[in-house]
Amino acid sequence: MKVIVLGSSGSVGAPGNPASGYLIQPSNGQSLLMDIGPGVLAKMQEYQNPNDAHMLFSHLHPDHCLDFPSLLVWRRYHPTAPAQHRNICMGPHHTPIHLGRLSADIPDEVDDMSDTFDFHPWRIRHPHPIGDFTVTAYPTIHPIESYAMRVTAPNGRIIAYSGDSAYSTELIDCARNADIFLCEANWGKSCDNKAPNMHMCGQDAGIIATKANAKHLILVHIPPWGDPIGAMEGARQHYDGPISLSYSGMEIPL
Ligand SMILES: [Zn+2]
Ligand SMILES: [Zn+2]
Repeated sequence: MKVIVLGSSGSVGAPGNPASGYLIQPSNGQSLLMDIGPGVLAKMQEYQNPNDAHMLFSHLHPDHCLDFPSLLVWRRYHPTAPAQHRNICMGPHHTPIHLGRLSADIPDEVDDMSDTFDFHPWRIRHPHPIGDFTVTAYPTIHPIESYAMRVTAPNGRIIAYSGDSAYSTELIDCARNADIFLCEANWGKSCDNKAPNMHMCGQDAGIIATKANAKHLILVHIPPWGDPIGAMEGARQHYDGPISLSYSGMEIPL
């Protein structure tokens, strides 16, 4: 099994790095795709058939979901290999309406995704069986309904993903003893003079990784105009374990 960072740029895509998309690929069976921001579907084609993945949304800001209508096109209209069965889609409660509007041909109409995805809203702290995995969602602090995810693989390995969030103790439970913790560090080194209740900095990520006893901290969601080196320095002030900066194409075997 491996985790592949398809894109990890924050807020918008960057040259060579699409916006958010994280693929959890088992040795066999269906993958999990956490978020599908702009550019992610193209990158995904380098690794597998896009039809063979369940879809998990942390939230519905554009940088996390805008390639979803294109995924529907792939699943429905691929001329030789359209999707053969429905996959699961998990997300905030209004996901089918919000993304259905994005995918509709006529303004204000809603494209019904139920022909190709079986949608379920997240239930907070409820272990959802999805394919061969178990996924638990935790509420995060962000301007819209948003979740972090804790994924337990069939081999017992644990992947945690913060989604977008300000500092929250919920994230400590989400990342508890995780083998890898994909944590946003949008603001760079510190959160000084940044907008409240929206994002974290490297220092926040380091504090949570230590409190959670996460085994490998991977910093994500740093915008093209951001400060990745500062984010690393901030995380290092509070976390002694391995820290990596994410990039498109990063593969982590588990
Ligand atoms: Zn975002
Ligand atoms: Zn967001």
